[in-house]
Amino acid sequence: MPTGATKVAGVIGHPVTHSLSPTLCNTAFVHLGLDWVYVAWDVAPGNGGSAVASMRTLGIAAMSVTMPHKKAAFEACDERSEVATALGAVNCIANQDGRLIGHNTDGAGLVAALRAQLGLNLQAMPTTIVGAGGAGRAAALALCGAGAEVAIVNRSSDGAVAAAAMVSQWAGAGDNAVGTCTVAESTTQAITEARLVVNATPVGMSVADPLPFDVELLTDSHIVVDLIYHPIETRLLVAAKRRGAATANGVGMLLYQAAEQLKIWTGRSAPIDVMSAAVGLSLD
Ligand code: NAP
Repeated sequence: MPTGATKVAGVIGHPVTHSLSPTLCNTAFVHLGLDWVYVAWDVAPGNGGSAVASMRTLGIAAMSVTMPHKKAAFEACDERSEVATALGAVNCIANQDGRLIGHNTDGAGLVAALRAQLGLNLQAMPTTIVGAGGAGRAAALALCGAGAEVAIVNRSSDGAVAAAAMVSQWAGAGDNAVGTCTVAESTTQAITEARLVVNATPVGMSVADPLPFDVELLTDSHIVVDLIYHPIETRLLVAAKRRGAATANGVGMLLYQAAEQLKIWTGRSAPIDVMSAAVGLSLD
């Protein structure tokens, strides 16, 4: 039962009632014996900045941020992590004595999931990311930072060029990255030559959707990751399995990015299996 001393955390978004974050985080708090509670706030577009600022007046300890407020949250924070700065988007805020520190845990969540679920060593791994929106950009930055050789394929070439430039600028700014990030010259070549292929488009969320790329290019030496987690097994994953590829759905990224947030806020490691069971989602 929450008391006057309970630390309050929550997610802002619109819509947000479908969010799995309250179940994931409250399950973790109970399991870890932490006196925290996590709720969801439906915040209308345009009100993201004032919702973030309310953390100071209400003493809200921690906030997750989802669509459409990630950019407004970025602007409303007092400080931002290097990764959030490169992405221009914040999905996690820690309130440190009234100073709001913005992070972005999406990419780190994907990398942690790939390592934990598939045991991947990403160093020098030829990787193709299909999609260059928020998820694709976060994936490209984190995979490059983990040492992968990333090629980006996107419907609009402008999006691919901007994403590759963002990652390369971040990589060149320090000793962050040991990998590379370029725009793919041809989709066929990029899929054929990749070992790891990540679908970061929403193509596959509806059963009527086409496949995001030609699955005939896949072999049993590919690893195919679809960031979609609803449905849990997309047409792409079914087809990739048929071709003999190793596969993973988007549940791993969802869980591990939440785990990264819990670590930032509480310093504790999240109980992934317990959280996964609580939302009834399978990592396989
Ligand atoms: P977004 O910012 O809207 O970006 C969408 C990307 O997909 C863009 O690159 C867009 O290309 C491309 N795209 C959209 N429709 C397409 C189509 N019909 N054909 C080809 N390309 C298309 O979306 P997002 O936030 O990156 O999310 C992308 C997917 O990742 C969604 O399915 C989302 O659910 C999933 N996701 C999963 C997690 C997780 O934790 N597992 C986290 C975040 C996102 P253009 O640039 O040409 O428009």
